Amino acid sequence: MTNSQSYNKKTNDYNLTKNQKIVFNLLQNSGEPLKAYAILENLKREGLKSPLQVYRALNKLVELGIIHKIESQNSFIACSNSNCASNTAFTICRRCGDVKEIKNNHLFEQVSDLGKKNRLKVHRFNLEFYVDCNGCKVN
Ligand SMILES: [Zn+2]
Ligand SMILES: [Zn+2]
Repeated sequence: MTNSQSYNKKTNDYNLTKNQKIVFNLLQNSGEPLKAYAILENLKREGLKSPLQVYRALNKLVELGIIHKIESQNSFIACSNSNCASNTAFTICRRCGDVKEIKNNHLFEQVSDLGKKNRLKVHRFNLEFYVDCNGCKVN
């Protein structure tokens, strides 16, 4: 599937507004996380000059689960998984900063089990694992 096909499919599914589409398109094409200020800079050229417009669109897209916020970096990335909903897990390279979304459909069950063992109900999670990516591994 090409980027533009999944872009069309996703945006059609969710009935995004024009601003939301512009923001989503930017993140989808970037393929890596973008910090909020970088998103603002990029979108000025598209006519989205007000930070509030951009933040509103980002919040909505996060709520829909088609983009995610990397909390520790205050950056945003397009979802590369089809069914993670609001539960997310990422690896972040501590050397180069490369971010990858973890695709593991059993992760929610595992986290829920962990919660049960501690008598806690897990509503959602946002996991960040700090790693040395394959490109940065030192032999
Ligand atoms: Zn995702
Ligand atoms: Zn790395």
